[in-house]
Amino acid sequence: MDIIHLLPDNVANQIAAGEVIQRPASCLKELVENSLDAGATSVQVIVREAGRALMQVIDNGKGMSPTDARMAFERHATSKISCAADLFSLQTMGFRGEALASICAVAQVEVVTKREEDEMGTLIEIYGSDVQRQEAVATTTGTNFKVKNLFYNVPARRRFLKTNATELRNIITEYNRIVLVNPQCHFLLVSDDEVLSDLPAGSFKQRIEQVFGRTKQTFTSSLVEISTETELVSIHGFIGKPESANKMPQQFFFVNNRFMRHPYFHKAVMTAYQGMLLPDHTPSYFIYFDIHPDAIDVNIHPTKTEIKFADEQAIWQILLAAVRESLGKFNIVPSIDFESEVSLLDLPHISETNAAPLQAPQVSFNPTYNPFDQRIAASTYQPRMKEEALIDWQEEAPLNDESQDAAHFDLPDIAPMQVMGRYITVPMAGALLFVDQHRAHQTICYHEISIQLDGQKGMMQQMLFPETITLNDEQMQLMRTLRDDLQDAGFDLEQLGHSAFAINSIPALLGNKAPQPILLDILAYVSESGGSAHEQWRKQIATSMARSVAIPYGKLLSVEEMQDLLKRLFALKEHAYTPEGKPVMTSISQNELDKRF
Ligand code: ADP
Ligand code: MG
Repeated sequence: MDIIHLLPDNVANQIAAGEVIQRPASCLKELVENSLDAGATSVQVIVREAGRALMQVIDNGKGMSPTDARMAFERHATSKISCAADLFSLQTMGFRGEALASICAVAQVEVVTKREEDEMGTLIEIYGSDVQRQEAVATTTGTNFKVKNLFYNVPARRRFLKTNATELRNIITEYNRIVLVNPQCHFLLVSDDEVLSDLPAGSFKQRIEQVFGRTKQTFTSSLVEISTETELVSIHGFIGKPESANKMPQQFFFVNNRFMRHPYFHKAVMTAYQGMLLPDHTPSYFIYFDIHPDAIDVNIHPTKTEIKFADEQAIWQILLAAVRESLGKFNIVPSIDFESEVSLLDLPHISETNAAPLQAPQVSFNPTYNPFDQRIAASTYQPRMKEEALIDWQEEAPLNDESQDAAHFDLPDIAPMQVMGRYITVPMAGALLFVDQHRAHQTICYHEISIQLDGQKGMMQQMLFPETITLNDEQMQLMRTLRDDLQDAGFDLEQLGHSAFAINSIPALLGNKAPQPILLDILAYVSESGGSAHEQWRKQIATSMARSVAIPYGKLLSVEEMQDLLKRLFALKEHAYTPEGKPVMTSISQNELDKRF
């Protein structure tokens, strides 16, 4: 007797359902994605008992004909592809035709649907793959799915579900992944009669704010835009400013409107932030990739979020460059501008107070501005140097591209003020700007020292009495390696026996500062980072030197000194953060001030 036979459909579907529908959240994901594929601009999700008792999705999409409504529950029934080649030009979330067949195998499903062109709609009830009834009903255009008693006929799976709190959290996670990439659609999420989320249609940025902006300060003000277009891929979205990084960041990648996890691309983003973050702190990001469907693995499993790209290394580079560019480019004034979408909504509030509306900052480019017009710290420091020992690099030092591109901000005529012995404050572009004097100067010095290092011409000052620095073996070794770079920076060092160096000259801008702590700082960094690139060493040499020569807190500044400092700061392209990634400035907008009154 032959013993092989085909499984009845309902059993086959139940087995398949095990893969696709693992929990309420996966069921909801399938239903909501179907609504979006049907062109809905409004999707309402209603759950009871974290989806165990009921999951309902109501959309205003294109609906189904009576025949399609019945067909939709068959396995491999789909309107989205008709041949294998279609897989390579996929525009929809679904394509396998498996979801509804799986859902109706393990739940009690009721659907009411109607197309625009039809008079009457269709109601179908299916329990465990068995059609209970199908009839014509009066209804509006769109589709209304009710999935009741999930896994009612699969007790093992029902037991496998977690607590309601956990399942609801899973639902919200899936919901967020979908709403963040579909800001054009209005979403509503109701759980046990409580509205958990109501998201009007808007821009990507507004959607991010709607989902994560619970605190007083807007969430999106901690983000900057990222955008790049290449032949291979276009990338857009938002990334967190380094100072807003924290231990629980929101990190989202999407490709062709689909949420994805991508540890490799995550690394690219983190690489761009190197040196800017506190330990254990990571930035939030919302990064959207658009790529031709044939450049990714289309056979995406419904429950899997990892996606393979044909050209991962090239995209890694493009992503890294895009994140770097945004981090380098943004600064405080455009970040006020960045708020304009939201500010527009707030405008009536401002005019109520008769205050001037927010103005876009005036940015003008001053190609003749030369940061070398002022000698580094000339107004603040009296370096002890022998004039003849000066190697004059100023005339020849080529301005690098950065300085030439640097935007020059039209600073207002109003005199800046020093407050609390550490901040320079000045009204600017409808906001009050606060600049940290030490960090501002540190950033300027860093930039100028870097240029000097690149030009390999340090301005030296001969020591009247050479000093020595005593080192251990490891430090001696490192010092020998770094000697050329230190020489370029202006340190003239000469080995004295096995454990010391004589310091014959130091960089002019160190003034009266003791050179030993700075050298030890540089050595400590290089030994810690284990780096072997001159570029890295030079970065650290510039960082350590800039930190030690920068105007200290508590130092009183004249109006001219403050104006000079601001002018030099804003002449830099990267002026919002210190080389170590700490914010140099912040602002309080008129809007924020108004809210306090
Ligand atoms: P897939 O989405 O992979 O095509 P599904 O089983 O999820 O498979 O859905 C089967 C078919 O049912 C879809 O291709 C679509 O034509 C139709 N359908 C499902 N949900 C909706 C909806 N909300 N509005 C209109 N049509 C729908
Ligand atoms: Mg589907």
